[in-house]
Amino acid sequence: MRFETKAIHSGQQPDVSTGAVIVPVFQTSTFQQEAVGRHKGYEYARTGNPTRTALETCLAELEGGRYGLAFSSGVAATAAVFSLFGKGTHIVLGDDLYGGTYRLVEKVFKQWGFSATYADVDNIESFRKSITAKTQIVWIESPTNPLLKVIDIKRLAKITREKKALLAVDNTFASPYFQNPLALGADIVVHSTTKYINGHSDIVGGAVVVNDEAIYNQLKFYQNAAGAVPGPWDCWLTLRGVRTLAVRMREHERNAQYLANFLSKHKKVAKVYYPGLKGTKDYKIASKQMSGFGGMLSFEIKGDFAAVENFFAGLKLFLLAESLGGVESLVCYPAKMTHGSMPEKERLKRGIKNNLIRISVGIENKYDLKDDMEQALS
Ligand SMILES: *Cc1c(COP(=O)(O)O)cnc(C)c1O
Repeated sequence: MRFETKAIHSGQQPDVSTGAVIVPVFQTSTFQQEAVGRHKGYEYARTGNPTRTALETCLAELEGGRYGLAFSSGVAATAAVFSLFGKGTHIVLGDDLYGGTYRLVEKVFKQWGFSATYADVDNIESFRKSITAKTQIVWIESPTNPLLKVIDIKRLAKITREKKALLAVDNTFASPYFQNPLALGADIVVHSTTKYINGHSDIVGGAVVVNDEAIYNQLKFYQNAAGAVPGPWDCWLTLRGVRTLAVRMREHERNAQYLANFLSKHKKVAKVYYPGLKGTKDYKIASKQMSGFGGMLSFEIKGDFAAVENFFAGLKLFLLAESLGGVESLVCYPAKMTHGSMPEKERLKRGIKNNLIRISVGIENKYDLKDDMEQALS
């Protein structure tokens, strides 16, 4: 089966007891046992729930993986992956990444005896240099947040295999429609399903997909033991969203490409970050490993914070809000929003300047989006 078909049918067979075409919301905390230990596969809803199973199966198949696990947020999914390792673990992370992942490493896992090195995502050899004998895992995003840099996943997977570390890819920005990291050699894929997978800005959720049975069993154990599971309603809404992932992603990309071109030519714009803009190193790698460039872009406006504020105040259609991947277009100010938890020095070192604006391009009409930007920039 191909992607669009899997999105609609994987894990979503009609309900056996009623014939309901749509997987029901199994709003129950517990399941009857016929005798002690004799049941239909479900005992208690933290451990497993049929609506969640449907979502987990679907997400695994969309990523081309064997096992999927759903969590109550993307950060909970990330924490589950880090929890595979013990005290003394060294993690290597790409230096352009979601602020909440940075915070989780710096403020939580370091307390528990982890150490971390941030490798330059523009230079893949810096990953090789950062890996030590204690490195258990390399963690990247590609495209990265918020600078939309693209890392050669196949090359990095070769390095991590040589060094006997696992490679985890946060695939939130690409979505499984445009990129499947497991096929490129990654060991673990993580999603904030809050974003494109659910796609309607109405739930918070996360997922992990893996191929290795031992890793899956450990994560499954952790999921039940630590308990950050999504409720059946959230799973149901996410499944409802995922069925249209392919059509949405195609529109997001079409609109993003159009706005990236528009902004590139605008006199008040200093720089545009979008992997679909030809002639960059990122474009080359993205063309090789992704089937599309996605719906996220960032740009630097000419001027300082006042210019940013002016632009935001002028927008009528784009909403100023955190998050991304919904059908509506959002703008965000990384310096104070998604990366507000990062010290300014660290942030500037990573190239996240005070005039950087990130856009989650929605699927409204592209001319309306362009018109809104045009008048806000004038
Ligand atoms: C939002 C996001 C996360 C965190 O996910 P939540 O669902 O907000 O917990 C992780 N990685 C990326 C790239 C994100 O955009």
